[in-house]
Amino acid sequence: MNTQTIFDLHSHSLYSDGTLTPTELVTRAHEHGVNVLALTDHDETKGLAEAQSAANNVGLKLINGVEISASWDRNQTVHIVGLNIDPANDVLRAGLALIRQERIRRAKKIADKLEKTGIENVWKTITEKYGFEAVTRTHFARFLLENGHAKDMQHCFKKYLGRKGRAYVNGIWLPLEDAIGWIIAAGGQAVIAHPTRYRFTKSKLERLVIDFKSYGGVGIEVVSQRFTDKEKAEMASLARRHDLLASVGSDFHNPGSPYVELGRGLELPMDCKPIWNGWALL
Ligand code: AMP
Ligand code: MN
Ligand code: MN
Ligand code: MN
Repeated sequence: MNTQTIFDLHSHSLYSDGTLTPTELVTRAHEHGVNVLALTDHDETKGLAEAQSAANNVGLKLINGVEISASWDRNQTVHIVGLNIDPANDVLRAGLALIRQERIRRAKKIADKLEKTGIENVWKTITEKYGFEAVTRTHFARFLLENGHAKDMQHCFKKYLGRKGRAYVNGIWLPLEDAIGWIIAAGGQAVIAHPTRYRFTKSKLERLVIDFKSYGGVGIEVVSQRFTDKEKAEMASLARRHDLLASVGSDFHNPGSPYVELGRGLELPMDCKPIWNGWALL
């Protein structure tokens, strides 16, 4: 791999809340010049086998990944990407199965709340039409959009699904320490996903990083979807100060999103240690 290699280490398929099959995702990544792609579905690894065979067909390097929902500091959600995991590992599989159960518990509550606002057949439609195991708020957002209850995705989260929305239900995930432990058990590297998205203060983000490292986490996304140059510089500095490896990922979910594309704008700032430096890529 030369210096022109394009890495995209965070993406979703329809095994969580993306819209593309793993084959479509890999094909699209290849068309957009990605050389090394990680499929990182929320709490689910079912898409990896198909992604691997598609990657073999187009000559792209696939990294086995996952994005785990975890609870930190009194049930606040953080997302931890696991890279180079063994999806067959029993510890990881058992952990992810627990999270998917919690997703179903939460989804039923979200459906109840939506139905109380007068919207009909929510649970029935979600289970019939969007019936994957890793059910997410994105699935509810698509349901709301398709049935004319909101004008766009942002509106769905603002009015219904986001923290101040009418149908908000907090997920009670497993502790951060557990999620990192499963990734390590499966031979992978744990990475803090989209660190600016949590809207934590600087000192709180430092506290997350310190806890994360103490549990064995090694990396942080320095470049993610819609990060500004300032945010990238701040995350690069955070990574340097705490000796974390730097990762990059589009967090791609679906085509047609004006600001997000596979492999686009993912150059690492200078002075970062890329997480892939120790990987065998050939
Ligand atoms: P969940 O893990 O079920 O809480 O769902 C979280 C997912 O919802 C994220 O991974 C995003 O894909 C999506 N999401 C969260 N907030 C927004 C937003 N404001 N606009 C669009 N998608 C969002
Ligand atoms: Mn998502
Ligand atoms: Mn995420
Ligand atoms: Mn993601």
